[in-house]
Amino acid sequence: MIKVGMPRGLFYYDYYLLWESFFKKLDIEVVTSIRTNKDILDLGIKSCVDEACLPIKIYHGHVEYLKDKVDYIFIPKYVRLHKREYNCPKHLGIVDMINNSVDNLPILISPKITINDIDDFKDTMYSVGRDLKKNKKEIKEAYRYAINSFNKQDEWIRKEIIPFMDNKITRSDRIKILVLGHPYNIYDNFLNMEILDKLYDKGIDVITVNDVDEIEYRLYSNNNMKRIFWTQGRKIVGAAYSQIENYKVDGIIYISAFGCGLDSVLIYLVEQKSHCNNIPFMSMIFDEQTGEAGFNTRIEAFLDMMKWRSESENNFSTLR
Ligand code: SF4
Repeated sequence: MIKVGMPRGLFYYDYYLLWESFFKKLDIEVVTSIRTNKDILDLGIKSCVDEACLPIKIYHGHVEYLKDKVDYIFIPKYVRLHKREYNCPKHLGIVDMINNSVDNLPILISPKITINDIDDFKDTMYSVGRDLKKNKKEIKEAYRYAINSFNKQDEWIRKEIIPFMDNKITRSDRIKILVLGHPYNIYDNFLNMEILDKLYDKGIDVITVNDVDEIEYRLYSNNNMKRIFWTQGRKIVGAAYSQIENYKVDGIIYISAFGCGLDSVLIYLVEQKSHCNNIPFMSMIFDEQTGEAGFNTRIEAFLDMMKWRSESENNFSTLR
């Protein structure tokens, strides 16, 4: 049976179920790299250029891990996922970066994805299926199966990636925090030092951008002087604005990675909006160091500040 490797990084957290179901239905075995750990990070640091952001380095590590175990590695180039929007330039360049940095690669399956909505995946999937020498009937069935499975992507995130949140008990007396960031930052437990679990263990109700409805975040993302043209940017800013303007959360933590150009803009927008609405905000920028002490202290300080504010001392600064 043909084996296709799926690196556990970047758009894995958005489209894994779509592609995994597609390949599975075509009788292709999907081999997903293990969860990120120190070895994956070290592999990525060794092969990737120094200037890249942390998620790109981690992605290189996942490709290094898979390269000797599979016949193909699936690395799509996600250029556009919505009308008049684009992805980060590093997503656009990921195939070329991998090709130039990782030695002894198997064949890459790297379709260019420039679509306006989910229905447009049809052409891309048909072309991937043909490249794998599958016939039209098989591809058609696999495509339908994949689209149906994709409807369960959010459910899959809750069950497979953050199972503790699937069973969480929401209580009105608990502090509610919105954890913002790109999916590969907030759902990669190694990269973010398990922030979601840590907050939950401290009795916080955690929500993420995936808890905000698409119509709602798109609507609120327009509340800017200038239209945001990054798909992830619209999602992050729109989700934040909807929660802040309606006072649905008590605080916001933004998880970012060192070297992220987009976040330098997005953090500023969310921070300003939080400040104007008197909602506590903190950003945390992760890099290659893995010591947790400073990180834990910052979370504790932020939660203490929120607690004091809730006990009527609301003259505390909402920033950091
Ligand atoms: S959006 Fe930021 S973190 Fe993501 S790939 Fe681009 S630069 Fe890296």
